Amino acid sequence: MSRVWNFSAGPAALPEAVLQRAQAEMLDWNGSGASVMELSHRGKRFVELAADAERRLRGLLAVPAGYKVLFLQGGATQHFAQIPMNLAPEGGSADYIVTGHWSEKAVREASPYIDARVAASSASANFLDLPPRDTWILNPDAAYVHYTSNETIQGVEFHDIPDVGRVPLVADMSSNILSGPLDVSRFGLIYAGAQKNIGPSGLVVMIVRDELLARPGRPMAKIFRYAEHAANDSMLNTPNTWGWYLAGLTFEWLEQQGGLAAMGERNARKAKTLYDAIDGSGGFYSSPVAVHARSRMNVPFTLHDASLDAAFLAESEAEGLLALKGHKAVGGMRASLYNAVPQAAVDALVQFMRDFATRHG
Ligand code: PMP
Repeated sequence: MSRVWNFSAGPAALPEAVLQRAQAEMLDWNGSGASVMELSHRGKRFVELAADAERRLRGLLAVPAGYKVLFLQGGATQHFAQIPMNLAPEGGSADYIVTGHWSEKAVREASPYIDARVAASSASANFLDLPPRDTWILNPDAAYVHYTSNETIQGVEFHDIPDVGRVPLVADMSSNILSGPLDVSRFGLIYAGAQKNIGPSGLVVMIVRDELLARPGRPMAKIFRYAEHAANDSMLNTPNTWGWYLAGLTFEWLEQQGGLAAMGERNARKAKTLYDAIDGSGGFYSSPVAVHARSRMNVPFTLHDASLDAAFLAESEAEGLLALKGHKAVGGMRASLYNAVPQAAVDALVQFMRDFATRHG
C-alpha cells in the first residue's frame, strides 16, 4: 500500500486511523452484521451513533447551552442561500464581509432572497489581506453579519473573531473549523462543509443559537427550514449516514489527539514550517498574502519563475506529494494543511521545496 502526503484543498486528507477503522468496520459495523451505510437512520444503533457524534463535537468545541447542532446536506453552497431564507424576513438585509472567492459567492447566492450588503471588502487588495475592522460599515439593523473565517482559495484567515456588536455573527468555517479552540458563544451561527476537517463531502455541520431558529424567516418549504431540522434531530429526511459516521470517527480521533488546543498547536507549527521555508527561500518561493492574514490551513505560494510550475508539480507528485496545484483563480501552488495532514507531510514538502530550488536555482 502506498499512501501519499495529501495537500488537497478538499475533499482532503482524512486521518489514516479513521480510514482504517472504517475499513475494519465496513462489513459488520457495531455487531449489526451490516455496513453502517445499510442501516436505517431510524434504527436504535444509528440513532445512538448520531447522538454520540453530536456529543463529541459539542465536547470538542465546548458548545455552550442554547445552541443546536445540525447535520445537514447540500454543501456549504446551499447554505449560502438557506441562511438568508431562515434568518432574515422577506425584504430584509444582512451585512457581508467579502474577503475572497467564497464570501463573494455567499453574497451572490444570498442576493435573490435579501439585500446582501457588502459591509467591507478586500477586493481592492486583491483579497491578499483582510479589510481592517475600522473600515467596516455595519448596519445595526442587519439580520446578521456573515464572514468567511478562512478563504480556502486566497489563503487568508481571520485569527480573531471580529466584534460586530449585537448583530448575530454568522461564519462559514468550512476550511478551518476544528483547527484550534473556538469561543462558540461569540457566534449566532457557524456552518461548515465536512470535506476538509470533518469527513467526506455531502455533509454540513451547523451550530446555531436557539433564538435564531425561532426567527420566522421567509415563507419556504419545510425542508429548507433549520428549525424543522432541529426539531427532528437532523432526521427530517434521510441524512448522510455515512458522512455522519465518519464525522463521529474523526471527532473521536480529535479527542485522542488531545482535543482542539493540541490541534491548534500542531497546526500553528505546521504552518510556521511551511511559511518559514517560503520566506527563507531567498525569493525562489513567495507567499502573496499579508503576513498577519496568512491562513494556517491553506498556503498559496508562487515560484519566482512560473515556467518552473509544471516541473514543480510533476516532480512533487513523483515524490508522493499530492495536489499542490494552486486554484486556477490564483495560480501558482497551494498546500492545504488540515488536521489530518501530519507534521511529517509538511517536513517532506519543505525538504522537496529546498531540493527543487537547489536543482533549478
Ligand atoms: N466555503 C468555503 C470556505 C469553501 O472552502 C468551500 C469549498 N469547499 C465552500 C464554501 C463550498 O463548499 P461546497 O462545495 O461543499 O458547497
